[in-house]
Amino acid sequence: MREISSKEFEKEVLQGGKVVLDFYSTECPPCEALAPKFESVAELFTDDAKFFKIFRQENRDLSEKLSVKGSPTVLFYEDGKEVGVRLSGGIRRHDLFEGMKALVGKERVKEVRDKIKPIVSEYDVAILGGGPGGLTAGLYLCQAKINTALIDIGLPGGNVATTHMVSNYPGFIDPQPGYMLSHYMSEQTKQCGTTYKVAVDVTHVDLEKKEIVIDEFETIKAKKIIIATGTSPNYLGVPGEKELKGNGISYCATCDAKYFVDKEVIVVGGGNSAIEEADFITKFASKVTIVHQFDKLQANKTAQEKAFNNPKISFMLEHEPRGFQKSKKGVKVEVEDLKTKERKEIDTDGAFIFVGLKPNLDLFNNKLELDDWGYIKTNEDKETSIKGVYAVGDVASKKYRQITTAIADGTIAAISITRELDK
Ligand SMILES: Cc1cc2nc3c(=O)[nH]c(=O)nc-3n(C[C@H](O)[C@H](O)[C@H](O)COP(=O)(O)OP(=O)(O)OC[C@H]3O[C@@H](n4cnc5c(N)ncnc54)[C@H](O)[C@@H]3O)c2cc1C
Repeated sequence: MREISSKEFEKEVLQGGKVVLDFYSTECPPCEALAPKFESVAELFTDDAKFFKIFRQENRDLSEKLSVKGSPTVLFYEDGKEVGVRLSGGIRRHDLFEGMKALVGKERVKEVRDKIKPIVSEYDVAILGGGPGGLTAGLYLCQAKINTALIDIGLPGGNVATTHMVSNYPGFIDPQPGYMLSHYMSEQTKQCGTTYKVAVDVTHVDLEKKEIVIDEFETIKAKKIIIATGTSPNYLGVPGEKELKGNGISYCATCDAKYFVDKEVIVVGGGNSAIEEADFITKFASKVTIVHQFDKLQANKTAQEKAFNNPKISFMLEHEPRGFQKSKKGVKVEVEDLKTKERKEIDTDGAFIFVGLKPNLDLFNNKLELDDWGYIKTNEDKETSIKGVYAVGDVASKKYRQITTAIADGTIAAISITRELDK
């Protein structure tokens, strides 16, 4: 696998036979999470195809020509033609294997997969999720000399890593870039000695047996499990949204705002995330239109005042998107005026969606007791309805979801587990 520039695109990709090409950016957590998976899949298929990476920021003309609108984006080429389905956003190892089928066929992919030898590893504690909650639990357990594995489908850092600036984390006088704050947290836990298994696919979890399968071939057995999987952005669920995700529609301003220099975008949402991220996007975009369903914003007063005083931000209150379509400019958004029921189209360069979050629970098969909003119920020690399984941070039932509350949960679960294991 090697890095190329747009100058080599013609020779290496269009005349290169079977090729897999990864467009990546800097300050892009999903790109960093993809990097080790891309490298390992490239090694497995070294005899079948050529694997290249290309830095999107320095090869903008090529990425625009190929309509690459999100980072990372992986494209598959055969004899100069793009084949299969493009991958973008949080790309899993499994997705890369699926993508390879278009290039080398199902049988070859199966053959390669079958050669991977299964392994079993044992730990006292397995933590699922490396956001502030999981990292803090990892730190306390590690300092208590408890053999702990921290597993994340991405890179450690969680939602903090994609937050532009954090101004309410104690210990820092000035606002800290979220990316750096999460880096410090992660390094502290890692340097203590916690085993990291990150940027992996979590393919199966058995909470009763305390077994976690990663990348389909490694089984991790533990005495206790901490679920710290946090939340993911909600989708609007309107036509065209899924199709244009990573191709004009983004859920991460830190990752994608830089591609909208002097462009016009819409931001959907009116809570803290939407308003703070809209303000951040105006560092790049010439105009940001906030589309929000209510007649008032829900963000806190400070964020609202900043947005109202920002000349680049305008508001479409009591409006809701009804659909997205690809356009020559970028994206056509159909919005409905909720008072008059009139619909109109906005042709914009891109759309950012921040309409709340949902707990990441898909792997747990509804076996856990949840609250009315679908978050995991716990007791005072952060233990769930399944003995030996704990839930911390945003995924757990609580009133306020912040970095400090996630960290507090991680601390409580780790101390409680330490006492249990010491008995
Ligand atoms: C845009 C935005 C801005 C914010 N700004 C602030 C702020 O300024 N101050 C503040 O205090 N809070 C802020 N928050 C909230 C704060 O980020 C969260 O409360 C905090 O990150 C929660 O930590 P966590 O560890 O519970 O989960 P998360 O940070 O969500 O981390 C969860 C981790 O679990 C991983 N994961 C998901 N599914 C799986 C799986 N199946 N297996 C393994 N791993 C998995 C994810 O990859 C991720 O790394 C903000 C949130 C957002 C979205």
